[in-house]
Amino acid sequence: MTSTEAVPAAAQTFTSLNPGTGEVVGTHPIHDAAHVQAVVATARKEAERWQALGFEGRKKALVKWRKVIARRMDELASLMARETGKPQGDALLETALAIDHLAWAASHAEKVLKRRSVSPGLLMVNQAASVEYRPLGVVGVIGPWNYPVFTPMGSIAYALAAGNTVVFKPSEYTPGVGVWLADTFREAVGRPVFQVVTGYGETGAALTTAGVDKVAFTGSTATGKRVMAACAETLTPVVIEAGGKDALIVADDADLDEAAEATLWGAAANAGQTCAGVERVYVHDRVYDEFLDKLVAEARKLKAEPGGQVGPITMPSQVDIIRRHIDDALARGGRALVGGPVPEGARFVQPTVLVDVPEDSAAIQEETFGPTVTVTRVRDMDEAIERANGTRYALGSTVFSKDQGMAIAERLRAGMTAINGVISFAGIPTLPFGGVGDSGFGRIHGPDGLREFTYPHAIARQRFKPAIALTTFRRTAKEEQQLTKVVRGLYGRGRK
Ligand code: NDP
Repeated sequence: MTSTEAVPAAAQTFTSLNPGTGEVVGTHPIHDAAHVQAVVATARKEAERWQALGFEGRKKALVKWRKVIARRMDELASLMARETGKPQGDALLETALAIDHLAWAASHAEKVLKRRSVSPGLLMVNQAASVEYRPLGVVGVIGPWNYPVFTPMGSIAYALAAGNTVVFKPSEYTPGVGVWLADTFREAVGRPVFQVVTGYGETGAALTTAGVDKVAFTGSTATGKRVMAACAETLTPVVIEAGGKDALIVADDADLDEAAEATLWGAAANAGQTCAGVERVYVHDRVYDEFLDKLVAEARKLKAEPGGQVGPITMPSQVDIIRRHIDDALARGGRALVGGPVPEGARFVQPTVLVDVPEDSAAIQEETFGPTVTVTRVRDMDEAIERANGTRYALGSTVFSKDQGMAIAERLRAGMTAINGVISFAGIPTLPFGGVGDSGFGRIHGPDGLREFTYPHAIARQRFKPAIALTTFRRTAKEEQQLTKVVRGLYGRGRK
């Protein structure tokens, strides 16, 4: 099942199911700690060879893999659609974006990471200074089920392009997608540079203690903390891409049709199971009613149903969280203008628009991860910004305004902001993606995403003897006076 070899076989298996139909999609091994360690050992051996290929050699290998994925993207998308329940079109879009990131990482790694000269500064003018970004070794990637290709690829592609080997533990809900990725890599490249291990949370936990050089985790904040605690034992660095409670702000000069459409898509696409999905909307008093009418009219047309544009909730326990948030909002004076309480046993949650929801309720403060959105009237943009910044999460954000987009965006506490679009930042390979606060830290995508899987190596090379020798026991009192004079001359005067 996996692309590893010479490692102990797994004694037990588990199945992945189609959440829309209950059909068994695949059976996979539950890998234990011994297996995970053996896979990491293989990855460690392979790391030297992968690094020795250099940027050009790795780029060639990644391009081969990219071509295989692009040629067979329909197959990957339908496997993803079956494992998550998401519509095939959404799975195709996700695959396309992942391929674009893989292409960017492969072709830009050299430019971003290779050794470059930097200024040595005035006091060290006799030195030539340079820095390069070196691979860490083996990176462990722990992925989620909501975007089982796009999200882990943000770590996998960038870590590989930076010269690391990778061991990937996909979510127990989407193991087939992880296996497919590792198998196609093996087919294209022929070496166990990128391998997969499957199983439940214990397999993921085993990966964090298997001696990897970094862990890239995407999932809940609570599990992120557990991963970080496990990694602390060995001082293993981590990237944590945790949840969000993203706000969308509608200013009084916004295009309201566009804003309503973006709100609905941002809230309900992928059945709302998007870390940077829209969960809260703050609308200027002057346009609140008109915006709400448009949103409600659009939302009423959208249905969660088999084969529809909104699929089932992938993880059964998530339905209870969504139900709790809606029930709590309604019990505390909120109203559902579209959708409403979620029936017991439901796997499809209808798009839901909530208004008059108190700001301290779960539906506004906690990650819902369902196709629901709260809409709140604000008197001005100061209030909108204050409320948008008012949760412990800070991942993405959105602003709709003709003229104030940048001014509002610059005051938002968030890793990313889309202006007059929604989640657009995630599809731009040059932009870093990640959060602050309970949304995590570290970055995938872009130059920052490449550097995340490296460590900087600095070199200072003396070009000629310094005029004033400072780092020697032969330094004289006269040289110290000269130094004082130079520093005063450089930094003690003037206005700059
Ligand atoms: P988790 O955080 O529990 O799981 C994410 C990944 O971590 C999975 O691969 C999981 O494996 C693995 N894992 C679980 N326990 C451990 C552990 N102790 N050590 C290492 N790895 C572990 O998320 P869930 O899938 O349970 O979703 C729960 C909530 O997380 C959602 O309700 C949503 O709010 C949020 N979430 C956010 C995502 C985002 O994009 N930021 C993505 C997914 C979820 P396994 O699946 O096998 O248990």
